Amino acid sequence: MHLSPPDVGPLEERYAISAIRSGWVAPLGPEVDAFESEVASRVGTSHAVATNSGTAALHLGLLALGARPEQVVIVPTLTFAATANAVVYTGARPFFVDCDPLTGNIDVDLLETALTRLRRDGREVAAVIPVDMFGRCADYERILPMCAEAGVPVLEDAAEALGATRAGRAAGSFGRAGVLSFNGNKIITTSGGGMLLTEDAALAERVRYLATQARQPVWHYEHVDIGYNYRLSNVLAAIGRAQLRRLDTMIGRRRDLRESYAKLFAAVPGVDLLGEGDPGDNCWLTVIVVDPDEAGWDARELAAHLADRHIETRPVWMPMHLQPVHSGAEAALTGAAERLFTTGLTLPSGSAMTDSHRARVEQAIDDFLTTR
Ligand SMILES: *Cc1c(COP(=O)(O)O)cnc(C)c1O
Repeated sequence: MHLSPPDVGPLEERYAISAIRSGWVAPLGPEVDAFESEVASRVGTSHAVATNSGTAALHLGLLALGARPEQVVIVPTLTFAATANAVVYTGARPFFVDCDPLTGNIDVDLLETALTRLRRDGREVAAVIPVDMFGRCADYERILPMCAEAGVPVLEDAAEALGATRAGRAAGSFGRAGVLSFNGNKIITTSGGGMLLTEDAALAERVRYLATQARQPVWHYEHVDIGYNYRLSNVLAAIGRAQLRRLDTMIGRRRDLRESYAKLFAAVPGVDLLGEGDPGDNCWLTVIVVDPDEAGWDARELAAHLADRHIETRPVWMPMHLQPVHSGAEAALTGAAERLFTTGLTLPSGSAMTDSHRARVEQAIDDFLTTR
């Protein structure tokens, strides 16, 4: 049983077949246009550009914000590699900031210190990329004014957070631009895909232009910029439209699952659910945090027990400052992300999990807990 497998069925099949029959089998077409406008309206932004991955949308978002060599981009250390990779693609360097131990999102006090220090040292900060970790929005009430005051644009990595909200605003709508992912493990999928969302028409136009090989609007294929081939396929956009129609149902299923995990662990000493109690959570993945001294066992022991029963779990993301590829990168650290990396465990959370899958996982966890 996998952690978060794609949840696709007859509706997606119908949409994909109809896109193929329409003849639009290319990285453009009416399904791409419709998917963009439907996601933009769901998230509440004026503009959307569909890309063939979330990583591509992050890359072009950074380029459109002007990121370039000699600059730094502030990135949480607790994130998936793609957030930091996109920075490196532009020639800028990531500066890693640790996380809040209770939510896994960027530590805002530490962010403030880092911004102040970088400015004092005369360093150019191209952007801050807060990540809405595991489907919970970062603390934008503090992040947005802080970055505005420092004159640094915010690029929201909402790859995990479609459908999440904070104070009535949707994930993907914070900052100068927001990025979604439709990878196979995400809350909705196009098998692979992403999107950049923004209120800024010029920024959206720039990203659309860079994503389509930076072609000049002339007959003879003229280029004045290096472009990329980053647009989303029309067939895949059709799958995304079907998924979007089912988004609230799928979030509901993940939320039910979260609630049953919460019940299961409620009376277990030393176990907490990461980020519990956020009303805007889309419940993408459920993460437990195990204090081995209090629990009498550790996260890796439970993982091994479940693996023996063919149930997949994973640690939380390995912090970027521990990645060999980023050794030597600048970072502001408290140890919170490293602690979550050793004490956190991501449990099967997919919306396609059947009641019998669920019963099997709960039974296996129950068996483990009773033998402790
Ligand atoms: C999945 C993910 C991405 C990358 O999205 P892709 O569509 O797989 O390229 C970026 N950031 C975070 C936090 C993610 O979880």
